[in-house]
Amino acid sequence: MLTDFLKKVFCKDDEPQGLCALVIGHKKDSPGAINKKLNIGEFEFNEQLATMIESRVKSARLQRVYRLTYSQLPADINALNPVFVVSLHCNSDDGKASGTEVSYYHKSIKGMEIADIMLRSLVSHLKLPSRGIKPKTSEEKGGYLLRYTSAPCIIAEPFFIDNDRDLDRAMADMEGLASAYARAIDEIYKVLKAQKFAADLKE
Ligand SMILES: [Zn+2]
Repeated sequence: MLTDFLKKVFCKDDEPQGLCALVIGHKKDSPGAINKKLNIGEFEFNEQLATMIESRVKSARLQRVYRLTYSQLPADINALNPVFVVSLHCNSDDGKASGTEVSYYHKSIKGMEIADIMLRSLVSHLKLPSRGIKPKTSEEKGGYLLRYTSAPCIIAEPFFIDNDRDLDRAMADMEGLASAYARAIDEIYKVLKAQKFAADLKE
């Protein structure tokens, strides 16, 4: 007979899989930053990418989330009760800036840890300059989402969409980019699950 303790230790696999909320940045009618040469915006790029990521993630259940309004987005995500949140964006600046960055809420240690996992995976695939992980306050760009989601949340900006060379690099291997996201999501899920497991044991 298993004691309750041993059940807790060995029967974890019976638990339903936790959820990763995969948020597609912006909306169809307000698509975010645009690459003028190819006339492709953040929304269109990331919507296509999201379905490719979805088919590659092995661990967490994945739920795509579309923005209705920005103000209600955190509540919509929280209603799903995800283990963590990944928001898909692209960076933009003056057409020349290049590289990969991932943002997290400045007070979230877990946010920082998972931002680092995502950054390493995206950089190792794209091989663009790493701009690092970026702590954001609630007043900064993206900070509202990062602050008001209950689960650890990151905003991924793998490249600058207004930089033709960055976009070329990303579009040259969309499958590879989707796999880089999926590998990071699998690793993040494993890390957060192990942390929760350790915390449960302490109780
Ligand atoms: Zn964006």
